[in-house]
Amino acid sequence: MNLPTPYLFILIFFGCLLFIGILLSFLSKKENVSDNIEKRIEGALPGVQCAQCGYPGCYAYACALAKGEAKINQCIPGGPDTVDNLAKILNVDAQQLKDDSDDMIFTPRTVAIIHKQPCTGCTKCTRVCPVDAIKGKIRMVHEVDMEECIGCGECVDICPVKCIEMTRLEPTIKNFNWEIESIRITGETK
Ligand code: SF4
Ligand code: SF4
Ligand code: SF4
Repeated sequence: MNLPTPYLFILIFFGCLLFIGILLSFLSKKENVSDNIEKRIEGALPGVQCAQCGYPGCYAYACALAKGEAKINQCIPGGPDTVDNLAKILNVDAQQLKDDSDDMIFTPRTVAIIHKQPCTGCTKCTRVCPVDAIKGKIRMVHEVDMEECIGCGECVDICPVKCIEMTRLEPTIKNFNWEIESIRITGETK
């Protein structure tokens, strides 16, 4: 079928318009999806705008999270609940990062404990402990002073009867990190 030139021109012109329209609609949908993620992330943040996350405000942190450039535990005022909510939105595992986040406020959180019954009192653990946190006489049950233990884990593998285990302490006023430069705010923010 041979169309006269003006009709052909109109057909090509409208064809181009249709193509540009479809392209623009596709691009705008894509932009909306990414914008939605950033907005959802921002909605999960406390909105304090304190910059303790290392970004100038909650939205900037949300954008960095959406791009995979930041970790979900950087919002100090938000604490573990925010880490959980961000993990759900971004579909990542929260536990390790929650622990790290608590370590910023309560320190040390991970310490060694010695299970008494298998301990032979060989003293091998006392010799590797860099801070002399393990107490006990030769051939007597040994014990870790949790106030002293820095959680390095050096003693765990050296124990011939494998009776040393690393454990996380519950956060209490005793292990609060008084050196902290930032503080977590709880409760509703307006
Ligand atoms: S630390 Fe949390 S509350 Fe403060 S600006 Fe960053 S995201 Fe917002
Ligand atoms: S974990 Fe490190 S600091 Fe703690 S008792 Fe063992 S060796 Fe010592
Ligand atoms: S290395 Fe193990 S068995 Fe030896 S004293 Fe330490 S805890 Fe006890």
